Amino acid sequence: MASLDYPPALRRMIAQLKVLPGLGPRSAERLMLHLMGDVPRVANLVEALQEAAQRVVACPECGFFCESDADCELCFHPQRQRHLICVVEQAADVLRLERSGAYRGLYHVLGGRLSPLDHVTAEDLRLESLSRRVVALGAREVILATGSDVEGEATASFIRDLLRGIPGLMVSRLAQGLPAGGGLDHADELTLYQALNGRRECS
Ligand SMILES: [Zn+2]
Repeated sequence: MASLDYPPALRRMIAQLKVLPGLGPRSAERLMLHLMGDVPRVANLVEALQEAAQRVVACPECGFFCESDADCELCFHPQRQRHLICVVEQAADVLRLERSGAYRGLYHVLGGRLSPLDHVTAEDLRLESLSRRVVALGAREVILATGSDVEGEATASFIRDLLRGIPGLMVSRLAQGLPAGGGLDHADELTLYQALNGRRECS
């Protein structure tokens, strides 16, 4: 006799859930059981997912999320400094930097970073539109805020070369160093190396 399993509809639901990041087969099963106990919540969830999938697109200029029938809140914001462009890997990085409150310029989302092992090449990133925007906006500074790992550094280096030669443009890199609130005993050697290289005069 075949072993008993959930009905096909629930098995399909588990199959869809378990491929989501952070969810394995067991957590997908738990989530399914949780949702099945609350039918109105399922309806709300489905509606929210459909609305987001249908209405939210990547802004053709900066690549951040925007609603298809509205202007991008970043690109069309009247108080943003339009001569500054901060380049990030993912759209979610924009919000991380925004929460710091330290930046009021424009952004450019690459949609990833150069990674030969994952077959991500320059053509897969939003680099052409970056060059075009830098020229069209008359940008004075591009801040490279890609990650500090090998791929993030390689991506930053590639962009530095790409933008070299644009008159009046400074290309900068986010400083790297000690985490806020931490002593030297918590920093690894690479972090200390970068902190020493990125030192600046006390003012
Ligand atoms: Zn935009």
